[in-house]
Amino acid sequence: MAESKLPYRRIVLKISGEGFCRRGGWGIDADELARIAREVRLVTEEAVQVAIVVGGGNFLRGANAARDTSIPEATAHYMGMLATVMNALALQEALELLGTETRVQSAIAIAACCEPFIRRRCIRHLEKNRVVILAAGTGRPFVTTDTAAALAAVEINADVVLKATKVDGVYTADPHKDPDAKFYATLTYHDVIQQGLKVMDVSAIDLCQTHHVPIVVFDLTIPGIMRRVVKGEVCGTKITT
Ligand code: UDP
Repeated sequence: MAESKLPYRRIVLKISGEGFCRRGGWGIDADELARIAREVRLVTEEAVQVAIVVGGGNFLRGANAARDTSIPEATAHYMGMLATVMNALALQEALELLGTETRVQSAIAIAACCEPFIRRRCIRHLEKNRVVILAAGTGRPFVTTDTAAALAAVEINADVVLKATKVDGVYTADPHKDPDAKFYATLTYHDVIQQGLKVMDVSAIDLCQTHHVPIVVFDLTIPGIMRRVVKGEVCGTKITT
């Protein structure tokens, strides 16, 4: 790997479950999966270490499952964490098809197909330019993979959390529903929490604020954007102190 001239040496990329399916859809769509893999592959061509935290909302979100069924909420959250493992394994195969070396590390022990999350081993993989896909969130219920991404970033000393969504940044309201929604190019952590902006969980924002990890929110459906973000181009919304 060449000496990095990029703004970030190590990134945590958070890909929500919605990235794996068509808008309003469910499960894993083959084209969406291949597209995410191509985008990540482009990033790996830059001199940057890549850890990915995958969501699971394309299969199940614990809070919704608990609300809609008689499943106790803690169990429903574990089910949500297992959903993220499916996305992680799918992304691993899609990336390896493109020739990108990967490892999946899970916060819940699943010895047959994932390594356990071990901080120092994760960092070692990253140093060897393997993409590390972090599955099963934090391994504990009642939080989301946004918090897992923020925690991972702090734990592995990443320089930024890149939150890939299907909206091109943060708005005052949902731009798909409100045509008057105003776009923010930059925000402070304080703004996000004070204004209750739906970017990431408050716990995720709080962790990033405490440990000075910037967050960039961008639209992963724009081809090549992930690479541009990694190269420091102004895209989406950047959240800092
Ligand atoms: N989850 C959890 N603990 C974690 C991460 C996730 O309990 O540390 C559960 C939670 O129920 C969540 C689901 O897994 O709704 C799927 O993750 P998330 O909602 O973050 O997925 P995304 O919205 O990013 O697709």
